[in-house]
Amino acid sequence: MSRTWVTPGGVHPPENKHQSLTQPIGQLPIPEKLIIPLSQHIGAPATPCVEIGQQVLKGQVIAQATGVVSIPMHAPSSGTISAIEHRPIAHASGMLAPCIEITTDGADTWIEHEGISDYEHISPSKLIEMVGNAGISGMGGAGFPSAVKLNPGRQRPIDTLIVNATECEPYITADDSAIRERAGEIIEGIKILSAILDHPTNIMIGIEDNKPEAIAALAPHVEDSGISVVVFPTKYPSGGEKQLIYILTGKELPTGKLPADEGMICINIGTTYAIKRAVIDGEPLISRVTTVTGDAVGTPRNYDTLIGTPVRHLLEHNQFDEQAGGRVIMGGPMMGFTLPSADVPIVKTTNCILAPSYAEIPDDDPAQPCIRCGMCAEACPVSLLPQQLFWYAQAEEHDRLEAHNLFDCIECGACSYVCPSNIPLVQYYRAAKGDIRKAREEKVKSDHARERFEFHKERIEQAEREKEAKRAARREATQQAKADHLAATANGSAASSAPATATPASAVSSSSAADIIAAAQARAAAKQANPEDQRAKLERTIASAEQRLKMAEEKLAEAINDDSGKQDKLSAAVENTRQKLEQSKSKLAELAE
Ligand code: SF4
Ligand code: SF4
Repeated sequence: MSRTWVTPGGVHPPENKHQSLTQPIGQLPIPEKLIIPLSQHIGAPATPCVEIGQQVLKGQVIAQATGVVSIPMHAPSSGTISAIEHRPIAHASGMLAPCIEITTDGADTWIEHEGISDYEHISPSKLIEMVGNAGISGMGGAGFPSAVKLNPGRQRPIDTLIVNATECEPYITADDSAIRERAGEIIEGIKILSAILDHPTNIMIGIEDNKPEAIAALAPHVEDSGISVVVFPTKYPSGGEKQLIYILTGKELPTGKLPADEGMICINIGTTYAIKRAVIDGEPLISRVTTVTGDAVGTPRNYDTLIGTPVRHLLEHNQFDEQAGGRVIMGGPMMGFTLPSADVPIVKTTNCILAPSYAEIPDDDPAQPCIRCGMCAEACPVSLLPQQLFWYAQAEEHDRLEAHNLFDCIECGACSYVCPSNIPLVQYYRAAKGDIRKAREEKVKSDHARERFEFHKERIEQAEREKEAKRAARREATQQAKADHLAATANGSAASSAPATATPASAVSSSSAADIIAAAQARAAAKQANPEDQRAKLERTIASAEQRLKMAEEKLAEAINDDSGKQDKLSAAVENTRQKLEQSKSKLAELAE
């Protein structure tokens, strides 16, 4: 039996998992409308490649990946594209985001698709490409595109593949039920991952001891496979990447380091199933197992749910009793959030819809002052100081929050759970992280704009220095030509009595240069003939230039403020006008002398 390590902190909330495990994974009727958000993953949102009114087949690409960290979206069922617009998405704020709506035709007709069974003979890069094209992102966490996660593994040697079968949050049984019913396909997916990663020496499935049926289901499939199922005591939270790595290997992942930096890849067990379907069956990720539970639903169970299914559709097919509980939570009671609307769709990371009754999970009592009991610090699995973080978050002391490793917080909510004063600690941390990220983005933007402005200013000054050097060279050349002309004239008088000889070419050229200079001097003298006219003209030029400079400076300030991308052009215009103004002013000063 493999050794395991014990993480600090943690809590043991009531599990409440049995309710949704009394029936096998179910299927819902196809919803009339499917709403597919273009960003269901970390990275750039996908770009629609369909039009309103277009017919689509199940599995057809409806939005292309945009950039390296992005994945495509596929139609979860056949039908017609009926809208491409902003819709409410799964977010605590009720925010809107771009979505594609499909009005389904009920036929559920697949696009032509084909997988490969002999993946051992396919190159890792081709397998990664298949994973990327299938739109697979992590299904247990923040939704990191799996193809991107698997790439560093190929550049850096990976000796440990950790499959995360830890489902520590109360109520959620999506992975547990999937393992019970799909263990063979899950292990096939792990073998594909092993081929991609050049067969790591250590492949472990980490699972808690409260899932004996799932553990038993895996056992026959891992025999002689080199894959070990590592069972450890149940505690919340154990499913975080860092926590699971520590439990299984005893290694602490330093802040800012990725598992790949330590030769490890950690992947959710639901994702391994999606990888099997993508490679062997040629199917993109268009559905996932989602737990529907809580006392306010009549039949708690797991469903193989089409991505894009409105939460309302799930509730309607589960006898949701709105009187018993008005709240609908996406995720579990510890890390989930209350949905502002049941119209939001299921996405690739939705593992649970929890509709508790008021008796089951009462509304939070009002928060009381902190009594400095220290229970939050004891519960923290990351050994942070939640009480101090709370004070700094209240005071918006960003530097201190960062110095106290706010970004190591995995937002597990264990501190809030134990707090006798009912302080919603984790909500303060989430808000503080959001504020810090926003401030960082704004600083990067303004630094960028300033650098561009200074770089442009330097370029203009450099151009002016070069112009001045050319002017000086021309002045020197003119003086030299004058001197040559005078010398030639003097020589000509002396030589007029001498016998005629052939005229040297240099003499001709200096003579014509002198003529040009003389003509220019005459023109300049003519221009200077009327100083009054000149002064009036210069004054008009100055007044006009001052007016233009003022307007150009205002426009530049606006452009810098809006970061409109016109800063360079406007900055050049300001500099140009300023130079003209200075020149006119200095000419006017010369005239006055
Ligand atoms: S658990 Fe609550 S009351 Fe106790 S120290 Fe932490 S924040 Fe204060
Ligand atoms: S939410 Fe953050 S601070 Fe609170 S226990 Fe979890 S990791 Fe620690």
